[in-house]
Amino acid sequence: ALKAGIVGLPNVGKSTLFNAITQAGAESANYPFCTIDPNVGVVEVPDERLDKLTELVVPNKTVPTAFEFIDIAGIVRGASKGEGLGNKFLAHIREVDAIVHVVRCFVDENITHVDGKVDPISDIQTINLELVLADLESVEKRIDRSKKNMKGGNKQYAAEVEVLEKVKEALYNDMPARSVELTDDEKVLLRDLHLLTMKPVLYAANVSEDGVANADENEYVIKVKEFAVAENAEVVPISAKVEAEIAELEGEDKAMFLEELGLEESGLNRLIKAAYRLLGLYTYFTAGVQEVRAWTIRKGMKAPQAAGVIHTDFERGFIRAEVVSYDDLVAAGSMNVAKERGQLRLEGKEYIVKDGDVMHFRFNV
Ligand code: GDP
Repeated sequence: ALKAGIVGLPNVGKSTLFNAITQAGAESANYPFCTIDPNVGVVEVPDERLDKLTELVVPNKTVPTAFEFIDIAGIVRGASKGEGLGNKFLAHIREVDAIVHVVRCFVDENITHVDGKVDPISDIQTINLELVLADLESVEKRIDRSKKNMKGGNKQYAAEVEVLEKVKEALYNDMPARSVELTDDEKVLLRDLHLLTMKPVLYAANVSEDGVANADENEYVIKVKEFAVAENAEVVPISAKVEAEIAELEGEDKAMFLEELGLEESGLNRLIKAAYRLLGLYTYFTAGVQEVRAWTIRKGMKAPQAAGVIHTDFERGFIRAEVVSYDDLVAAGSMNVAKERGQLRLEGKEYIVKDGDVMHFRFNV
């Protein structure tokens, strides 16, 4: 499963949010591949299309696709120099696919702010600086090594040094590596460095419970949004405290509570959806009478790799896929009608899977 790491300064509401995530968490029986770790919360990705397919097929069971959130506690000023949990914390960030950066946008005299006042931009910059410094160290080390290797006359290293210098320049100016425009080839050269500031970021603006319905008017949220635009990052206003309460409710109670708060859906759902968008993820479906299920793939994956998400055997033995788009299937009302209409296609190894494809794989064992 894909992973997003939750980071932020102390006392901004990370644990509160993470607890809401684990409370709302998925039944792990459906997701044996997910990590079992107290710092990992598995959530199901909400998707209305899955409900519709369930109505249509009436399967024995319906399984949404899952997503992992990882609580990466412990960043403080000086982490890149080993302060606090320092390097251990940074190593955890290297392993995630995206970063959810929680920033404090609530005022509460009783809750100490590490820097003495609520200032989300300064909080963001504090954390970003640690990430930039850690990356700068990795980049400089690599430049030294590549320069030595260059003496052997290998052109590959010259190209590497060139792109590393570009990234170093940005880092020196406090800009994340993801702000540097790079070609695909250049990105490949950087890949094994696992730069922290290359990862996509989403800011979760933690607002107070009474401000949650008008979060867009919150002065701190407005500032975070302005900041995020410049970085090409997304902002999701959320109240960690409210999410913790919502996570304890179910069905009708949950719907009523959301309505009272003036919300259409929980902040957690919005956060999950935003993380999904941020990572450029698609969903395809399998729809049999035993099970209707959603699966996550990366944009651009071909049919065999998409099949491999279900099982490696499906990828290895891939022959063909029967594909109907979600819209066609729903309009047809059943698989048979879709077939009669000629909307069920046979696709081969080169087929690039689309978001919403309903697929059935044929494979050799
Ligand atoms: P962490 O250090 O970032 O993990 O922060 P915590 O989740 O432990 O939160 C620190 C304190 O802030 C706790 O006492 C929380 O109850 C409180 N807190 C978190 N979110 C909110 C909020 O939206 N409003 C208020 N008033 N307090 C909050």
